[in-house]
Amino acid sequence: MYDIIIVGAGPAGLTAALYARRAGHTVLILEGGVPGGQAATTPNVENWPGTPAIGGADFAMNLYQQVQDLGAEVTFAAVTGLRDEGAVKTVLAGEQAFQGRAVILANGVRRRKLDVPGEERLAGSGVSYCATCDGGFFRGRDVAVIGGGNTALEDAVYLSALCPTVWLIHRRDQFRAERHLIDALAGKDNIKFLMEHRVLEIRGEHQVEALRLVGPEGETTLPVAGVFAAVGLIPDNAPFSPPVELDQGGYIRSGEDCATNVPGVFAAGDTRTKDLRQLVTAAADGAAAASRAGQYLGLR
Ligand code: NAP
Repeated sequence: MYDIIIVGAGPAGLTAALYARRAGHTVLILEGGVPGGQAATTPNVENWPGTPAIGGADFAMNLYQQVQDLGAEVTFAAVTGLRDEGAVKTVLAGEQAFQGRAVILANGVRRRKLDVPGEERLAGSGVSYCATCDGGFFRGRDVAVIGGGNTALEDAVYLSALCPTVWLIHRRDQFRAERHLIDALAGKDNIKFLMEHRVLEIRGEHQVEALRLVGPEGETTLPVAGVFAAVGLIPDNAPFSPPVELDQGGYIRSGEDCATNVPGVFAAGDTRTKDLRQLVTAAADGAAAASRAGQYLGLR
């Protein structure tokens, strides 16, 4: 029996563990993938206060090491359910069951798929959702990045150092990414724009060979060896609901205190209803959730 079980080893979950361990609570972190969450696959973190620039993987590993040094236990298992039995909460991961007195859900979000023919079949064979993870496989080859947000523009800039041509394909005529990322595109002559274009199909027998697109001029075929989908993030909270209430978008309904509708269950970071999903707000949530969980444990 742990004082606090934390689901997810991203910045929110790891910060929650940091605060919980420093407050003397026993902590188990359950992680279904790799530690660090999205931060671990971000090329550069340039908006962490006091640190002008650090690689995302280094940032994630520093935090993970810090939490391990403080004595948090980590088990790699994908969480599949949550049972609320009042004073005891059971977190399920397949056949395994873990018990805690409080739970912090910091499971983040996952990448949205394009949902077009060829995507699933060619996933891992030219279709990727992580430029920093897979970009190296496409060195010297032309690729496309789909999306108009921060991730798409960061990915395009990252890939422009590896690939002769990076096609940035966006469905509207304006990017939603932040100004400094739009400005960063200016000096990159090998990033080419296809605005107001949508992907209809990803083609290729065994590997990606081309994209079938539709734009203002009609349908075209664009030969590329790789396609990086950066079309946003979606929550993955079905394992917790019920008993935890979700909002219309599938995010965990929770305010700045990170409390959910279930006493003793808290939500931190991108997984919960919030306005601004950033590293710094995820970490802030981790601190708030650990503090509230500590108060909850003290009252029992
Ligand atoms: P995002 O901001 O939601 O942008 C997703 C982009 O994909 C949008 O441009 C959207 O088009 C497009 N899109 C969505 N569905 C599509 C579809 N089915 N087909 C084609 N295009 C589609 O997602 P994100 O860039 O992954 O960023 C997610 C969050 O992480 C944001 O809050 C972002 O600020 C944050 N983030 C921050 C940083 C940073 O601070 N450096 C870096 C990365 C991410 P529309 O514009 O038309 O909606």
